[in-house]
Formats: sequence, C-alpha cells, structure tokens
Amino acid sequence: MDIQCESCQKNFIADEMPRRGAVCFSCHVKTVRLGFTYGKVDFHGPTVRERQRKQVADAAIHGINAEPVTNWM
Ligand SMILES: [Zn+2]
Repeated sequence: MDIQCESCQKNFIADEMPRRGAVCFSCHVKTVRLGFTYGKVDFHGPTVRERQRKQVADAAIHGINAEPVTNWM
C-alpha cells in the first residue's frame, strides 16, 4: 500500500495504514525523539514552581530597577 506522509508529504510503502496514522517511519522517529528530549529536559530541569518563583523575582528586579509602575495586572 502506498501512503503519503502527512508530515513530509513523501510517499512510503506499508502493508497497511500504520496505527500512528499516515506518517512515514523517519517522521515518526523524529517525533518520538523530540518527545523523549522534552521529557528529559522537563525531568531534569527546574520544576514549575521554581520557574514561577524565578519569574516573580525577575519581575521584581525589573520593577524596582527599570520599569515605571504600570497597571497591567
Ligand atoms: Zn514523513
């Protein structure tokens, strides 16, 4: 069966429509690797709470040092 990849528009041959959909193997592998990379970054990176704390701290620094007081909240 000749299937056109939804992602790269290349045609590829498969016995049947893959369960992942009309996506060729190389695009499928790319997606999997991307998910794995992001998962790893998330796992080792700062937690959401830590990121929020840093954002608040950065905002405070900018508010005190540079930005005039605004009513954007
Ligand atoms: Zn593809």
